[in-house]
Amino acid sequence: MSKYIDSAFSCLKEYVPGEQPKDKKYIKLNTNESPYPPSPSVIKAVNSAEVADLRLYSDPESSKLKKAIAEVYGVDSKNVFVSNGSDEILNFAFMLYGNVSGALFPEISYGFYKVFCDLYGIDKTMVPLEDDFTINKSKYMSTGKFTVIANPNAPTGIEMNKEDIEEIIASNKNNVVLIDEAYIDFGGTSCYELIRKYDNLIVCRTFSKAYSLAGARLGYCFANEELIKDLEKIKYSTNPYNINRLTQAAGVAAMAENDYYMANCKKIADTREYTTLKLRSLGFEVLDSKTNFIFAKHECISGMDIYTLLRERGILVRHFTDERIKDYNRITIGSREEMEALVNAVKEIVKGA
Ligand code: PMP
Repeated sequence: MSKYIDSAFSCLKEYVPGEQPKDKKYIKLNTNESPYPPSPSVIKAVNSAEVADLRLYSDPESSKLKKAIAEVYGVDSKNVFVSNGSDEILNFAFMLYGNVSGALFPEISYGFYKVFCDLYGIDKTMVPLEDDFTINKSKYMSTGKFTVIANPNAPTGIEMNKEDIEEIIASNKNNVVLIDEAYIDFGGTSCYELIRKYDNLIVCRTFSKAYSLAGARLGYCFANEELIKDLEKIKYSTNPYNINRLTQAAGVAAMAENDYYMANCKKIADTREYTTLKLRSLGFEVLDSKTNFIFAKHECISGMDIYTLLRERGILVRHFTDERIKDYNRITIGSREEMEALVNAVKEIVKGA
């Protein structure tokens, strides 16, 4: 840190992304990426015309991309906003709505929510999860604050049902509710259609998980037109060309092959069930996940030891040190072969314990 930094930022505890290792090749199950490649048409779209046009700025309105998303989801383009990763939507939303009367979100959830609050000096209320790691609906009713819920939640993987989500949205008419559906495509039930009914709802999504485009950095959200205009206002005040040409082309091509991606999500959900059963039979408690990861704890080996022993065997998972979840590891669902390798490594570890 330099001596020139504004004191408002010198104490900021920044978000720590999952490791992208460079020392050797791992079976990488630590950042919830897809094990499957982008569809062939995405690779073609990025490789061909768009590369030659890189001397030109990208379309600041991302019109084709918004239209492609709107068509797949049966909404109007005016109800779609696109961003440089869904982190950017979260960033803009905290900036826009956080300081109106504070922000509220689950204590164990996506770590970036807390960072945005600290970045913008937002008064934050972090609601503890129940003993079984579920979200208690009653603690999110009429909050009077910018309310954010990841559904399914991360890193637990647990989904809240759509009826409960709707009750929360309906009871919070005087403030914005953002439902972060980064992991919705792996078996969850989306609430995006509720944007027609509620003008206080933002449903945030990403191309990083289900659409195999984590490296392209592309997020999107659905909301009422006025909320979309708020987000556009911040975009044009920070980075009008927030989505580069290659990523816009990739997003349009991906939407045209939605079936390919949904079939991949189904495969991942099946592999998740296989892995859950195997780990349970090896003495793990595995929470019921509706995502492309599972959250698992062994009955007698610590979370840190599991992480380290897997790493020694070339398998990378995500371990968090927060007191309440330090016994767990978050394990991304990879291909069937990768998960078989994980199960074999875990068998060895358990045998040696
Ligand atoms: N929300 C949740 C719950 C996440 O886990 C992530 C991924 N780290 C994101 C949002 C952001 O994803 P991205 O910026 O890659 O779209």
